[in-house]
Formats: sequence, structure tokens, C-alpha cells
Amino acid sequence: MLLALTASALITPREVVSDGVVIVRDGTIEAVGTRAQIEIPVAARVENYESGILAPGYIDLHIHGGAGHDLMEAAPVATEAVERLLAQHGVTSYLPTTLTAPVDLTLRALEFLAAEIEAAAADQSRSDRACPAGIHMEGPFLSHAKRGVHPPEYLQPASVELFQRFWEAARGHIRLLTIAPELPDAAELISVATRQGITCSLGHSNALAAEAQAGVAAGARHATHTFNAMRPLDHREPGILGVVLGSPELYADIIADGVHVEPSVIDMFLRLKGPERAVLITDALSATGMGEGRFRLGDFEIDVRGPVCRDLNGTIAGSVLTLDVAVRNIMAFTGWELPAAVRLASLNAARSAQLAGRGELVAGAVADIAVLTPAGEVMETICGGRTTS
Ligand SMILES: [Zn+2]
Repeated sequence: MLLALTASALITPREVVSDGVVIVRDGTIEAVGTRAQIEIPVAARVENYESGILAPGYIDLHIHGGAGHDLMEAAPVATEAVERLLAQHGVTSYLPTTLTAPVDLTLRALEFLAAEIEAAAADQSRSDRACPAGIHMEGPFLSHAKRGVHPPEYLQPASVELFQRFWEAARGHIRLLTIAPELPDAAELISVATRQGITCSLGHSNALAAEAQAGVAAGARHATHTFNAMRPLDHREPGILGVVLGSPELYADIIADGVHVEPSVIDMFLRLKGPERAVLITDALSATGMGEGRFRLGDFEIDVRGPVCRDLNGTIAGSVLTLDVAVRNIMAFTGWELPAAVRLASLNAARSAQLAGRGELVAGAVADIAVLTPAGEVMETICGGRTTS
């Protein structure tokens, strides 16, 4: 199948190309350029998005569920519902994210998600569904003091042996591991996981600066929902937050719903991390896309009112954010323009989680494309080169 997609502009997102063309062959991008540079093959089916902008499909590195389903359910009906919801919001790939749970339940969820990842990669007929590209394990190696809504009884000491059981259950599909670097033996686990090609992410942590530095020295290269479930910055003990904001080699993600982090602090975060290291995530829950009400999250209940999601004690518990809204919020909160905001939800996410061949419009990449208006509204989502029209 040979496709030529034309649009008023392309956000690659390393550059903006006016009057652009993307040639797609069998689900892979073959060429990207201006209409003057690229000759459209006569055999190609041409799709014109005259008023649209083509951008890389968004990548969500941190999502627990949506459309009434939790990804820990380990049921095909759950992944399908979440993936269809994601595609409506410009997301073409994502890391299903585990919540801290009993070990046997976690192993079952990992086995199931691994099978879903392999099935999605093999299925050339899927359309209108985001693709699971790997697993994000959020827990169980987290701080008790900064566990947020993760149940304390299931948190575990950092253990290479337990991690290897998870790795085997996931058949090597774990891409991101959130870990509190101050746990005893965390540095050893970080260095083992890093050598296995996993991106270790500092988070749910009460670490002092020296403990966070030890995590970075062991190989950690990312930070999970910066500011949330993290020891606050102190000018005499900068702690984990000082290390995350001050280390240029670290990627750091943020929940840009304007509730988890106040907009002026998001602006400050972006100025510190810069356009190449900041990443947007949603941390979205089953309640996403369902309106307001009371919903179940693992073993407990949450209340959704407006953009805020709290457990019954009033603690903020994940979000109902979608990535297209996060991109538009960045534009509204900071004055950044669409191309820079798009990069935070695509290329930066792919690079940090080491998702090769995703996150940019470039020859050789998967043809995962979001068609956007200049304001960042999603007109269409093209997953693996399969258009809906
Ligand atoms: Zn979390």
C-alpha cells in the first residue's frame, strides 16, 4: 500500500515544513519533504489535508486506563477501549502503566500486556487504535512516604530478583521503570535494569539530593510526574527535585492539566528542562473520557469533579487528562507554539523511553501521524499508515 499525504505544514518535529508531503509505504514512512522536493509516485493514493498540519502521533508514557477500564484488568476489552479513546486524542502509541499491586496480580498483568504488545505489532489491519509499545512499571519499588495512591501493603524493597521475575513475565517488554532511588539496593536495580535497555525513572521518592544523584550515577535518565509524589525543593537540601531540574541529561515528565502543577510552575519547569528534555504524560485513569462521577481505581474509589480526580481522603489521584489537551495547555500556559509543544508529546517521549522508529516524521519511522488544526485540535489520527477515510 502506497500513500501520499499532503498538508499545509508538517511538524517533524525537529523542523516545520510548509506545503509538505509524507510518502508512506506499507505502514512505514518512506519520504518527508516539501511538494517541490518530493515527486508523488503515480501508484500512490493521495490524501489531501489542505487545512491540516501533520505531526507525529502522540506517545503517552504514563497511562493507567480510560473509557471506564483499568489496564490492570488484564482483559482485551480494556486495552481495546483505552486504545480507541487514545486514538481519538491523537495518541498512536503508549506504555500501559502498572499500578502497585500484589506480586501475582502484577505478574498476570505483565504477561497479558506482553501478549497484547506482540499481537498489536503483528496485526497489520488495526486502525483507530493506539499501539501498546512497551510497559511502564510504576511500582512496586516506591517510597512509602511519597507513595501517593499506591497501596502501602504492596510496596516492595528494591530487589533485582523480583524485578527479573517481572521482566520474564513481561517477556522483555518493560520500557520504563519508576523507582525511588533512596531505597536500599535501588542503585543496583537501576544499573541492572539500565543494562537491560530499560529507562529508569526517578519518582514517588523522598530522596535527598545525594540519593537522587546516586540514582543518576547508576543510570537513571528520566523523572516521573515531576513535582508530584516528590520531596519538595528546599534551598539548603535541593533533594530529588533539585537534581531532576538541574541535571541536563535527565528527561522529566509532567502532568500539564493545570491542577497537578500550577501553570506558572509548568512554565518554570519548561524553561529549566528545555525543549529537548521535557515530556508530557497524562497519568490518566479509567475515568478519563467518562465525565464526572465516582470510579474505581484498583482497590479504592475516586471522585472526578471537573479536571480534578481525588481519592476519598482528598488526595489527588492521577488525572483525566488527554495528551491533545496537554499540548494545548502548554501553548496556553507558556506561550510556546504548537511545534515545540508537539515535540514534548512525541519525539522527547520516544527518545527517553528508547522507542526506536517512533515519535517523528522521518524516513524509516512507523507512519504514526496526528492530523492537527493550527490550534492543536485533532482532526484525524493515522496509526501505522492506516487512514480512516
Ligand atoms: Zn504516580
